[in-house]
Amino acid sequence: MPKNTNTDTHDSPFIKQSFSGRPVRRVRFCARVILRNFSDKERDASYVRLRWTHEVDSSLSFRGTRNLFSSKSYLRLPLLLPQTTAMQQILNYINGSFQPPNSGKYLDNYNPATGEVYSLIPDSDATDVELAVKAAKAAFASWSALSREERSQHMLNVSRRITERLDELAEAESTDNGKPVWMAKRVDIPRASDNFKFFATAILHDSSELHDMDGKFLNYTLRQPIGVAGCISPWNLPLYLFTWKIAPALASGNTVVAKPSEITPMTAFLLSQICEEVGFPKGVLNIVHGLGGKVGSAITEHPDVPIISFTGGTETGKTIARMAAPMFKKLSLELGGKNPNIIFDDCDLDNALSTSLNSSFANQGQICLCGSRIYVQKGIYNEFKTRFVEMVKQMKVGNPKSPDVKLGAIVSKAHFDKVLSYVELAKQEGGTVLCGGKEAKTDLGGWFIEPTVIEGLDEQCRTNQEEIFGPVVTIQPFETEEEVLAYANGTKYGLASTVWTSDLARAHRVAAQLHTGIVWINCWLIRDLRTPFGGVKQSGVGREGGWEALRFFTEPKNVCIPLQ
Ligand code: NDP
Repeated sequence: MPKNTNTDTHDSPFIKQSFSGRPVRRVRFCARVILRNFSDKERDASYVRLRWTHEVDSSLSFRGTRNLFSSKSYLRLPLLLPQTTAMQQILNYINGSFQPPNSGKYLDNYNPATGEVYSLIPDSDATDVELAVKAAKAAFASWSALSREERSQHMLNVSRRITERLDELAEAESTDNGKPVWMAKRVDIPRASDNFKFFATAILHDSSELHDMDGKFLNYTLRQPIGVAGCISPWNLPLYLFTWKIAPALASGNTVVAKPSEITPMTAFLLSQICEEVGFPKGVLNIVHGLGGKVGSAITEHPDVPIISFTGGTETGKTIARMAAPMFKKLSLELGGKNPNIIFDDCDLDNALSTSLNSSFANQGQICLCGSRIYVQKGIYNEFKTRFVEMVKQMKVGNPKSPDVKLGAIVSKAHFDKVLSYVELAKQEGGTVLCGGKEAKTDLGGWFIEPTVIEGLDEQCRTNQEEIFGPVVTIQPFETEEEVLAYANGTKYGLASTVWTSDLARAHRVAAQLHTGIVWINCWLIRDLRTPFGGVKQSGVGREGGWEALRFFTEPKNVCIPLQ
């Protein structure tokens, strides 16, 4: 008979059933959260199972329904629940195995559509990072020594398995982040698979430079992996951005210690399961979950992590740069944006309108590339505004599982409050809310905001200067090219911009003068993975994508040989 009385480690068959065979610590906390979220009917069902278990395992000590809520019963309840209702517990993935955090503590993970806790995240700390770095360091020699074909094959296996698990991953991403399932299925998950595939195959076609000194000397450039790469990613496109960093790091021959956002950790956890399933070499990819201030900074500060790739907010980027600079780490920072969407009066208006709807509100406006400041030339301002607002009002906000929903939930309560506080600020700054501007009521209980358009603000106000990162855009008229360029370039950010015009010369002229790392002409969010991706000014340092990423994750070494 398995022992079932220890509060810290459990090895009963029931635990194995509920937690996929992995020993679980701190089940007590987990059970308490589960109980909180259960209906009476579900509690009753659990009770029946508990009774049944009592006959099997005499060490159980409950006596009735009331005892389900006693501290002793907490220990056992999750072990008895059907797998479908069990609280999901995320684990770190270190050296090819799933591990609880050393602290034994877990953080609540919320479903933003319901506002309820649905899983637990390891509250890891520097000691877990230490284990991960140690594993990554040990794995570096063998991983970097593999042939490109071998590395590529391992990565293609991961890519293939992501595609095979598309439906499950898309559901998980939607539950974790609040985005519509259809979007995760169409954008996030396929792109995660593509990231692995793209870099796995890119390394097969790599080349480097050779400099001939008139036949007297020959220089050639070796591009070698650096060691353990630290990859830290945000919550808005969880698996998409996580793999966008991990894949080039691994393909170049580095090993990785990665941290997904603590707000959306689930698909990173599923990725670690995929690595296990496909037999990805142990220690090559390590995933440590937890808070940015603990896990993120421990990765950033670790002396054996010489290269950091970070995507997130500008303020966090500054903190990371401050930590990394004295250690002379190689740093790639993809940060915030306040992107202009410029609409000239000679544009294809229908196209500009429908694409602007997307570029304003896709992913609830939580894409760093969303155009949050719309500038419309005076000749078409009123027509654009009227039609745009009408279209925005038609956008359905609600259950992310529903295929006709355009906007799902905002990722967290804190972010929901932040976005709505900006609407209030905009009103104080003299703005007029043309539509939206408040919580979208649903019967789900989560955090939803109506898509919002605000007019009448000046360029220097905070609403037009600060990143809101939600379903809120401002709209303002302009007269001349020079004027709109001054507006567009007039923030501390410089990530992306969009220009709508049918004048080819103007398109090129304006694109050249925009202070952003990316310019889309008559389109938005068209991504070719070979192109450089990143921002200028406070939107970031360095570039991701294509060769830029592979170069970032390698160190160029010049070798010089005399020929005479
Ligand atoms: P944050 O900067 O808050 O967090 C990003 C990641 O950094 C998270 O994993 C976070 O962990 C971690 N982190 C937080 N503090 C530290 C620290 N001191 N040291 C190391 N890591 C830390 O960004 P958000 O997750 O809120 O993402 C939204 C932001 O990301 C927006 O500003 C958006 O513009 C930007 N972004 C930029 C993109 C680009 O390509 N330029 C693309 C997508 C988003 P935790 O979650 O635990 O806080």
